[in-house]
Amino acid sequence: MAGTHKYKALLLDLDDTLIKSNKLYDKTLLHVTRYITKKFGLDDKTFFNNVMDKEMIIQRSFPTVHTRHSRILVFRMALDEVLKVYDYSILPEVEDMYWEYFISHIELYDNVISTLKKLKELGVKIAIVSDGSLGLRIKKVKSAGLQPYIDQVFASEEVIFEKPFGALFTLALSKLEVEAKHTIMLGNNYKNDIRGAQLVGIRAGMFDPPEDGNPMGQDSQIRVIPDFVINDFSEILNEMGYEK
Ligand SMILES: [Mg+2]
Repeated sequence: MAGTHKYKALLLDLDDTLIKSNKLYDKTLLHVTRYITKKFGLDDKTFFNNVMDKEMIIQRSFPTVHTRHSRILVFRMALDEVLKVYDYSILPEVEDMYWEYFISHIELYDNVISTLKKLKELGVKIAIVSDGSLGLRIKKVKSAGLQPYIDQVFASEEVIFEKPFGALFTLALSKLEVEAKHTIMLGNNYKNDIRGAQLVGIRAGMFDPPEDGNPMGQDSQIRVIPDFVINDFSEILNEMGYEK
């Protein structure tokens, strides 16, 4: 428990652990679909729902690899369904628009910066372990103002498979030169963040804030038990054996 052991490294999930992503993804999708519907004279609501469906299909078609986060495939599939012919150069254009909008509207949870600052001053190594492409993760970190506190960013793209596969966690441990038993993981996904980290021997906790939280990934058949649950980001200090 807290206080008995001072951990040397903190691994963090990014979306819905440091940054409030859940609602922003919907807002971003709405922004981009409105641009598309205006351009092609389509109905806003119908096309938005169409895009949501296609997002689900892409997510499920590429389980555990970063392609499942591709937005260009979603927009192509949605547009292909409603238009026979269109200028396909819009596809990378709206993909860029999507990420630019998302990145420029990022909000952090309360006490993220102050807590990371303290941990950094205490000499704790801090890294992001996140599913998706490396470039986009680094852009999110930079835009959120997290870069001064984050030593490294590791993306599933680097190891092919997403969490809960152990490769992303072991890559982080090896690059940070820390052992699993001296490391703590914090995330918002039971299966990917908690079980994934626990499988390689890392103590793993759930971030479940009262507002804008997004705990997910709990399976009805196999229940994942987190080693700890925190409701405010600053509580990670205690979990790591340091004074709050
Ligand atoms: Mg997450």
